[in-house]
Amino acid sequence: MDKRDYYEILGVSKTATPEELKKAYRKMAIKYHPDKNPGDKEAEEKFKEAAEAYDVLSDPDKRARYDQFGHNMGSQGFPGGGGFYSGGGMSMEDIFAQFGDLFGGHAGFSGFGGATGGRARRKVRKGSDLRIKVKLTLEEISKGVSKTLKIPTLDKCTHCNGTGAKDGTAFTTCPTCHGSGTIVQTQQTILGPMQSTATCPQCHGEGKIITEKCSYCNGEGVQRKENTVSFNIPAGVSDGMVLTIKGKGNAAVHGGVNGDLLVVIEEVPHPELIRDGNDVIYNLMLDIPTAALGGSVEVPTITGRARLKIQPGTQPGKVLRLRGKGLPSTEGYGTGDELINVMVYIPETLNDSEKAAFESLRNAPDMQPTDSVKKRIFSKLRHIFE
Ligand SMILES: [Zn+2]
Ligand SMILES: [Zn+2]
Repeated sequence: MDKRDYYEILGVSKTATPEELKKAYRKMAIKYHPDKNPGDKEAEEKFKEAAEAYDVLSDPDKRARYDQFGHNMGSQGFPGGGGFYSGGGMSMEDIFAQFGDLFGGHAGFSGFGGATGGRARRKVRKGSDLRIKVKLTLEEISKGVSKTLKIPTLDKCTHCNGTGAKDGTAFTTCPTCHGSGTIVQTQQTILGPMQSTATCPQCHGEGKIITEKCSYCNGEGVQRKENTVSFNIPAGVSDGMVLTIKGKGNAAVHGGVNGDLLVVIEEVPHPELIRDGNDVIYNLMLDIPTAALGGSVEVPTITGRARLKIQPGTQPGKVLRLRGKGLPSTEGYGTGDELINVMVYIPETLNDSEKAAFESLRNAPDMQPTDSVKKRIFSKLRHIFE
């Protein structure tokens, strides 16, 4: 099934401000909250859909990428590994973790016991994001590339399974919250009194307290490790673009969700070609005889050298076009061209016989353009003067 547009889900325009987005999402979250719609699968789906839309649109980085790529990024760029939500969208835990910011303080709604069979909600920690730069040549960008990199990360400690407790078992239930990780508060809201939960101050939402620390990670639950990460970069990316690979960042302290890996694209300048969006530009300098008599020259392209025919009487300022020799668009439609900017080299030094050859041409009849020839050439080169 096609995913709905995130702006449409929240009922806002593409130019909505962060404040408008927040307001729209609050409205949806209240309307479709599982506590208000117990057992209603459709409401739950709407609730998740809105949370996912808000998660993307409220983050300027993600929003910019969504505006550029839409939902396609997931299937096209990062099979199985990335895009926004390649799995089944956000988990309920992710959604509630997001609520702190939205409804003030740490308060969310009162659990959602009804919807999940009485399991208390605990605060889910998220590991920090990792940012790496990947240098790509134009050739790699034109085809798309898969990379396998070793990245130093904080990984889950294997001795305590990320819990920070000795053998992963040296815990006791938190006496303050009796293991729920939250304490209940009643709050006055615009909708009247609403029971809300706050993170337990003693266990910081974990519901349990470590009685003996894991000696390998000193109770942190994480260890330094070099992770091997493989991912695909779609064709057509450009310098400064950021791709997110979900869950490949640092592990969270005491378990929880991993942060994301942010891959920043750095374009290695081509020695001869200049990128202009999806087109590339090459400045070709012809010698006078080739421009006048015609001939054939070799030009660089992204994928190698190409032979180019030069017509007799080729003027400086003419632009030749190699169709489809540019870069593909990231959205998958169309490929740019290579534009060849023709210049003619006028010799800067001449020996005596060369001087004589030019001298003999100075007054030759075909060396001077007539008015009508000038007019025709200028009209074709109008782009230079505009
Ligand atoms: Zn507690
Ligand atoms: Zn450990």
